[in-house]
Amino acid sequence: MRRYRDFHRESIEQPDAFWRREAARVHWETPFDAVLDRSNPPFARWFTGGRTNLCFNAVDRHLASRAQQNALVYVSTETGIERRYTYADLHAEVNRMAAVMRSLGVKRGDRVLIYLPMIPEAVFAMLACARLGAIHSVVFGGFAAPSLAARIDDAKPMLLVSADAGARGGKVIDYAPLVDEAMSRAAHAPPHVLLIDRQLAPERLDAPYLVHYEPLREQFYDARIPCEWLESNEPSYILYTSGTTGKPKGVQRDVGGYAVALAASIDYIFEGRPGDTMFTASDIGWVVGHSYIIYAPLLAGMTTVMYEGTPIRPDGGIWWRLVEQHKINLMFTAPTAIRVLKKQDPALLHAADLSSLRTLFLAGEPLDEPTATWISDALGKPVVDNYWQTETGWPMLANQGGVEALPQKLGSPGVPCYGYDLVLRDEHTGEPCASGQKGVITLGYPLPPGCMQTVWGDDARFVRTYWESVPGQQVYSTFDWGMQDENGYVTILGRTDDVINVAGHRLGTREIEEAISSHAAVAEVAVVGVNDAVKGQAALAFVVLRDAAAAADPKAADKLATAIATTVDRQLGAIGRPARVHFVSMLPKTRSGKLLRRAIAALAEGREPGDLPTIEDASALQQIREAVNAAGERQGR
Ligand code: ATP
Ligand code: MG
Repeated sequence: MRRYRDFHRESIEQPDAFWRREAARVHWETPFDAVLDRSNPPFARWFTGGRTNLCFNAVDRHLASRAQQNALVYVSTETGIERRYTYADLHAEVNRMAAVMRSLGVKRGDRVLIYLPMIPEAVFAMLACARLGAIHSVVFGGFAAPSLAARIDDAKPMLLVSADAGARGGKVIDYAPLVDEAMSRAAHAPPHVLLIDRQLAPERLDAPYLVHYEPLREQFYDARIPCEWLESNEPSYILYTSGTTGKPKGVQRDVGGYAVALAASIDYIFEGRPGDTMFTASDIGWVVGHSYIIYAPLLAGMTTVMYEGTPIRPDGGIWWRLVEQHKINLMFTAPTAIRVLKKQDPALLHAADLSSLRTLFLAGEPLDEPTATWISDALGKPVVDNYWQTETGWPMLANQGGVEALPQKLGSPGVPCYGYDLVLRDEHTGEPCASGQKGVITLGYPLPPGCMQTVWGDDARFVRTYWESVPGQQVYSTFDWGMQDENGYVTILGRTDDVINVAGHRLGTREIEEAISSHAAVAEVAVVGVNDAVKGQAALAFVVLRDAAAAADPKAADKLATAIATTVDRQLGAIGRPARVHFVSMLPKTRSGKLLRRAIAALAEGREPGDLPTIEDASALQQIREAVNAAGERQGR
């Protein structure tokens, strides 16, 4: 681990020298005066005085050498549309979009809210904002009107860019009612909505704020809009966190630091090379989409594949066929997608030629060992778990193959990435943990380039929320719980509010889930704590089986539940054994695939979970309710 250790140490002890070197990966129109301004902690300013532009670095800079290389390959299995854009094409489209936005009054520093499905125009719009120096805020296209309105009021945009409709699993979702409702609910509604007409929903011309994109695009077809040279610390975008644990926070990011951080990460963590093809199966509404569908692959001169559709339509082999057709080298998605694929026929995976694929990256939620083993065996390729947050913009923990390939440790996303002074701390004393001791994952000041600058419009909230929660220390809290071994590998044990207390023992629900996942019949599981008169709290498990028929009759279900509970006994001891195991066909998750444990816990205690604007499928809640009620009746409650 020598090379990795030296590299990491240099990044922490000599950040100026380290990041000055990395900054050479991007074009600076004006060189920076200083690498790091640490005069106002916990705020950090990277590359002060330097002027650059994200769009220039992602697009224009490649025109000299890769104008005819594909920059963006778009595939929609919802509409059957497939399009390819070379760097020259992308440059032209971004200029058109930028000209259209400018004609609608958008200028440097203005916010533009982008509420779009996975269509190429979303990429053009984001890059056009970057070009103009406007601040984009992408709102996931699946959100309902109240979520959209709340983000409009927080960001106060000059323009909203939207489409007639989204499509998911073969169903068209008409955006018009959502946009209209959000526009009338919002106190700070923008004067215009720029409408991309996909011709999926009935045409409409009624709303006074509607402006159609297509005729304006024609009008500005040959437009060339110069890049605004922004000071490195001007904001590039606002992105709201997923809202798994509460009110979403508007994460604000800079320009220069983000460009440098992403360009370095593609090399050191993803081992991507110019000309490679990367397929990140996520959504532009999430941070993974911002960083690894759009900015990082384009900054690196790669081809990025943008996909609209689910992993199982028309069948569970679609992603693997994309790998074959587009000679994809790097793939990145979330464990939840792999768990979906695990329930499909494995023959679909072997039907495609996967020889171009080098590595599969997974992030966003815990990667349980059985899923990791299943997918890496099935693919015969390395699987790299990486841990980060909307706030950080790029991985905090990973096996960084481009620095030094370290042995993989199943169940751990690896070791701290360069730039992050990552320390596990005791939640009561704030002191660093010994290896093997559970603690809160914290980051020392300064956060490396690419991380959030502040909460949009609310510096005090940034300081209070992130930097004042560990006793006696001004460190950044991730609000995640972990454990580090003597070699530096960190295991994520769940969120700090997902800890339950059973008869005086503090247990991470994630540890119990990990034990349950090792049972062969289990596809997915959520464990929550509920109040218990005797033990304080008791663990309840909600299990999705790989084969639902296995629990079809009550006797078989009881037997299986006991067998699953016993697995926990063996791995964690009887203390972790769930008081009950319930079978459901689906778990409540956010649209980004994260388990809504707090909602499950509320239902398990007979309370209502409250508003869940980011939930994927609300019928999953009903299943939890029914499972809990049925168990109550059986026990004669
Ligand atoms: P909110 O902060 O609004 O509640 P959120 O935390 O779900 O939403 P994100 O920033 O999308 O929003 O998610 C980051 C979180 O996802 C991390 O803090 C961690 O809990 C979890 N996570 C991400 N990657 C991994 C991983 N590889 N292993 C385990 N957990 C992960
Ligand atoms: Mg979070």
